[in-house]
Amino acid sequence: MSEKTKRFRFPQNQHMDDHFNWWNFMPMGLMHVALIGIWWTGFTWTAVAMCVFLYVARVFGITAGYHRYFSHRGYKTSRTFQFVLAFLGATALQKGPLWWAAKHREHHRDTDEPEDAHSPRHYGFLDAHVGWVYREARSSPDMDLVKDFSKYPEIRWIERHQYLPGLSVAVLCFLIGGWSGLLVGWLLSTILVYHATFTINSLDHMFGRQRYLTGDDSRNNWLMAILSMGEGWHNNHHYYPATARNGFFWWEFDPTYYMLLGLEKIGLVWNLRQPPKSILANEKPPTQKIIDKCATYIADGFSADRITANLRARWEGSHIMEDLRGHARTKWSAAEAYLAEIELPDLPSADELKARAQKQFKIQHEGLDRAIERAHDMLRRSVSHRLIEQAREERQQHA
Ligand SMILES: [Zn+2]
Ligand SMILES: [Zn+2]
Repeated sequence: MSEKTKRFRFPQNQHMDDHFNWWNFMPMGLMHVALIGIWWTGFTWTAVAMCVFLYVARVFGITAGYHRYFSHRGYKTSRTFQFVLAFLGATALQKGPLWWAAKHREHHRDTDEPEDAHSPRHYGFLDAHVGWVYREARSSPDMDLVKDFSKYPEIRWIERHQYLPGLSVAVLCFLIGGWSGLLVGWLLSTILVYHATFTINSLDHMFGRQRYLTGDDSRNNWLMAILSMGEGWHNNHHYYPATARNGFFWWEFDPTYYMLLGLEKIGLVWNLRQPPKSILANEKPPTQKIIDKCATYIADGFSADRITANLRARWEGSHIMEDLRGHARTKWSAAEAYLAEIELPDLPSADELKARAQKQFKIQHEGLDRAIERAHDMLRRSVSHRLIEQAREERQQHA
């Protein structure tokens, strides 16, 4: 585990530690082990049909319910059907809709920053996939983010009894299909739904293409779109989250959206929000926030301390160090102006910055060129700051 993981603290839960809680992980671990039981029960046609049906129904419960409705309000529905969506989502045993939506809203707020509980960039594949759920600090959301839904008593009821829907389905499967019904129909489908969901947080921030410059690592990936019924168009989604669809074009397979269209036809849901034309055309210039986010990532790959040390070694005994100490003694701005005029050859070259940018951001975009320039400025500034500070200290020591 990295130092960063051990020290992890969310601002709102300073007192919690972030160690992996093996005890809480037991049910998840045992469910995986219990799959071995299929060796004895075998596959019956009934059990396989139950598995397929429960996979599709519950992935839909998560994607259409927990994700596009409770987290992003991508469409509207009645209070009754809202309850149905919450119940269906809860049958997947991924905790309650309020917890899920609050964590997910945090993910969109802090995507691939250290505060993002499941960023593979910061915590690696396994922790982004499932480990974060069993780390207390990272799995505790700010519940103020979901006040729009926590005001409904029936939603709070599901949240309190979050295991009830999933376990009822298990009992039902056993009654219909016996042990094979339980292990293949219920258990196998539950685990497949888990990994379909988890993959979006882990692999879909690692592998695939980017259409939009988002400053994070979200990717569009057709294979994950098939497995997760449309969620694999994750770069689209991070660029414009508040929609009923994640596949923005007809060729981007998004069965969750097609099913929502069906529900709209029979009047159960309405006001399905669409991405605007300007988004589809990808014409909107990136915001300063996105440029800064990219630039910070690029600059973080180079140590300002090391560059400073290299420059000082290079200039040792030369007039530059003497001049700098002289300026630093009188005025900070004079020293800054002096450094702005001279070359700092130990700063990374444009090519080095570009290489780091392209390794992480899978996109050709003019915004990325701006981010590279900005990263260069950021590094130049922080190196200058260090040089002046050190020159000042030395001046004082000599005085
Ligand atoms: Zn994401
Ligand atoms: Zn989302």
